[in-house]
Amino acid sequence: MPKIGDETEMIYEGIPASPGIAIAPLHVIARGFSAPEVYEIEESEIPREQERFRQAVEITKRQLIELQSRLEDLSGEDESGIFEAHAMMIEDRAVVERVLAAIASRLQNADYAFYAVMQNFLEAMRRIPDPYLRERTADIEDVAQRVLRNFSPDGDSRHMGPDDRHILVAYDLAPSDTASMNRRHVLGFATEQGSVNSHTAILARAFGIPAVVGLEGSVIDLVALTPAILDGYSGKLILHPAPDTLARYRKLSDAKARVRSSLEAKRGAATETIDGRAITVSANVEIIDELPLVKRSGAKGIGLYRTEYLLLNGEEMPDEKEQALIYSKIAREMTPHGVIIRTLDAGGDKLPVEPLTEPEPNPFLGWRGIRVSLARPAMFREQIRAVLQASACGKVSVMFPMISGLSEVWRCKEMVRRCMDELDKEGIPFDHDLPVGIMIEVPAAALCADLLAPEVDFFSIGTNDLIQYTVAADRVNPHVADLYRPTHPAVIRLIKRTIDAANDNGIWTGICGEMAGDIQLTPLLIGLGVEELSVGPQQVPRVGQAIRSLSFAECAAMADEALRHNRSLGVLDLSLSLARKHYGELLD
Ligand code: PEP
Ligand code: MG
Repeated sequence: MPKIGDETEMIYEGIPASPGIAIAPLHVIARGFSAPEVYEIEESEIPREQERFRQAVEITKRQLIELQSRLEDLSGEDESGIFEAHAMMIEDRAVVERVLAAIASRLQNADYAFYAVMQNFLEAMRRIPDPYLRERTADIEDVAQRVLRNFSPDGDSRHMGPDDRHILVAYDLAPSDTASMNRRHVLGFATEQGSVNSHTAILARAFGIPAVVGLEGSVIDLVALTPAILDGYSGKLILHPAPDTLARYRKLSDAKARVRSSLEAKRGAATETIDGRAITVSANVEIIDELPLVKRSGAKGIGLYRTEYLLLNGEEMPDEKEQALIYSKIAREMTPHGVIIRTLDAGGDKLPVEPLTEPEPNPFLGWRGIRVSLARPAMFREQIRAVLQASACGKVSVMFPMISGLSEVWRCKEMVRRCMDELDKEGIPFDHDLPVGIMIEVPAAALCADLLAPEVDFFSIGTNDLIQYTVAADRVNPHVADLYRPTHPAVIRLIKRTIDAANDNGIWTGICGEMAGDIQLTPLLIGLGVEELSVGPQQVPRVGQAIRSLSFAECAAMADEALRHNRSLGVLDLSLSLARKHYGELLD
């Protein structure tokens, strides 16, 4: 493994999750407890650092014994035994020896070496299938945090704290970590876990933070402060880049910046194909911080507002009044364009709406999306009432996630009607013609699109889920990432079937999954007949330019051929060849 001072260039391969280049030192973090500062030490300082570690352990042990005796007085032996177990844990020889060795071999300060060893240990525990053992990780984190607090503060000037500009590496990041990232300091991130369609990756793209996921090897072996390049285009983390590698990446980064600024200059232009087919390009939004990005991007409104991100700030959904304020603000800011507010889509890889008594065996097939809302009518009602109130402040539509059949649509519409009646009686203004749409993201819904279309005002195809459910490949599992193919013949047939059903019933169809922002696929999606593409704010200018470069007639002929093709790669090639022909310079 690379060490500070070892100058050999090393490349770690991963999956590109968000485009862009970052050049900065690494900062390595763990889940559960926060990273101490890290700095290099001289060889002569090794004994001093090893002593600091021993002392921190000693102090912690004394504290734990003291805690134990206090608790014994209060509650008897059973419960106080936990601290005894904790005290034993930090004296575990395997841990102690690994920390002492890490200080000497990595030449890092003792607190950081301890932190890194504990991270490794914790990650190993998290992978244990036994839920009881997995739960013990919280105890270990707790003791580890205590030990960290007991290192004496060190005022060394070679520290790198999370406030410096860095590339973040972590075993995994929750969507909430990404949402709260300080984007001035985190120039990019790489994770060992994760996949392109996880919500962490979606947020990275929304914010324009280069990201690589599913990194090979173990991030815990990466040494903090190592100079690095993160290549979010090809999915590489390059440590100790050689001078010519650095020069190449600086050049690439400048070229990309030039393309970006030339696209920005065109952001007000209409998104119409050269033969006059208008396609709406709107933006996907997760948190309200993204609104300035959306406005700058030239998006014609918000095609998907993921309200479940409201759960990031607290334990439960904000109440009706708070939601109404947030939705109204978005509606006002988006005027003259509109916002499609999607009702809560909790569960899956997102936060659950309430603590579950036990983990679901298959969260993506479980209590998620509209299933939760329909099972919690009081909460659902508050959200619908809030959406309706916002509809008095701008152009608002409502959309329901994870619809799998007609009865769910009826129940949702019944709730909308009930809330409209209530607001009418209370004299609260709202749009009586509020458009109601559904997400088509479950194969059952796509196959029955002809039954659903007469009931709603629009369809928005959630390809992230539609692909995972169609090919039975978990969208966040890197082991099946290869099976997760947006151009799988089954997927494009379902998209086509949905659009045809919508056309037959005079409603429009958009796509708000990540596929909509992939400009390799724009010719295919346009050719299949979508009328709206809702994409991350960063992708809006490129998707707009791709549309302006294409001919609808040519795309439609290609899509017909694609629908007869028998392989995903063949379909991709067909679309890509039109993309190359008309806007090769925009492709990564
Ligand atoms: C989708 O499934 O494509 C979608 C847009 O919804 P989400 O990614 O929030 O599940
Ligand atoms: Mg979805």
